[in-house]
Amino acid sequence: MKIGVIGGGQLGRMLALAGTPLGMQFIFLDPAVDACAAALGAHICADYNDHEHLRQLADQVDLVTFEFENVPAETVAFLSQYVPVFPCAEALRIARDRLNEKTLFQQLQIPVAPFAAVDSQQALDAAVQTIGLPAVLKTRTLGYDGKGQKVLLNSADVDNAFAELGSVPCILETFVHFTGEVSLIAVRARDGEIRAYPLVHNTHEQGILRLSLPSTDHALQSLAEAYVTSVLEHLNYVGVLAFEFFEVDGGLRANEIAPRVHNSGHWTIEGAECSQFENHLRAVTGLPLGSTAKLGESAMINFIGTVPAIEQLAAIADCHPHHYGKAFKLGRKVGHGTIRSQTVQQLTEQLEKLKALV
Ligand code: AMP
Repeated sequence: MKIGVIGGGQLGRMLALAGTPLGMQFIFLDPAVDACAAALGAHICADYNDHEHLRQLADQVDLVTFEFENVPAETVAFLSQYVPVFPCAEALRIARDRLNEKTLFQQLQIPVAPFAAVDSQQALDAAVQTIGLPAVLKTRTLGYDGKGQKVLLNSADVDNAFAELGSVPCILETFVHFTGEVSLIAVRARDGEIRAYPLVHNTHEQGILRLSLPSTDHALQSLAEAYVTSVLEHLNYVGVLAFEFFEVDGGLRANEIAPRVHNSGHWTIEGAECSQFENHLRAVTGLPLGSTAKLGESAMINFIGTVPAIEQLAAIADCHPHHYGKAFKLGRKVGHGTIRSQTVQQLTEQLEKLKALV
């Protein structure tokens, strides 16, 4: 089976690493000449709105999926005329725009922090009056890894904040004093079956994910599963979806969804019976889903900017290094390491060794 993937970054690369043993072949469409997934499949080097090359992709594959959500809605509509596309256009329309996302959560009665749409500095000033400070101003689209957002602590931060974010449509949210951040990675098959991985505790620094720790018997697991199920069913979603939450007062506040495989699910490659990447491919191709059960204890650390020497990573007994083959650059995700151990104590010991390298 031939799979077309829009985007050719590390997520596409890991999809191909999971799908190749299942007999799948991959074609990536990505405008970057050095797209790192190209090492694992064919690469159509073209813009996401280049109809001629999108058509070329559609003609060569059995279905198309995505490794990132900032795809123009028009691209999805164009591809859908020629080839099945998973997840559906509506899921991408919701997930690429923070206002659509938050509005859907409200509609589905999933708790969110108070928010308001902001289309001008005047609207921002008015929104601050109702929402209060501290608050977070975020661009509605194209934000990632903490980019396109600003924390507003006082009125000096509010002045000119709309222009600082580029005078584009924004959303203002209450600053959430969370006790933790968790994500739930779930997958829905074409026949509607849903499976979820254990909730993952995530630690971010400067808006970038650093550490993911999958939990065991988390008290909020079934609540998180209920929320993600309502989103998956509402969208008639097929594939993997990641749902990020803030933990507050023993409950959850929805932050955002990603309609794709997700960084906080990389531990599943070694740490679960069937990885998020394989399960996404199983879902979109109509295969039965694999088990989402944990294998031992895991932790994942991102390599930002640079990858530690492979000799040092290989010397850590339970470490599984992943080098994405990308050029090293400050603030860029260029690899990750997963520790998978038999016991929590062993995991803690090995994780300290990995932390010392990053
Ligand atoms: P996001 O791009 O929305 O996932 O934001 C990146 C990170 O910024 C999150 O993982 C949080 O650590 C922090 N953050 C985002 N929104 C809020 C908020 N409303 N209150 C407090 N922290 C936030």
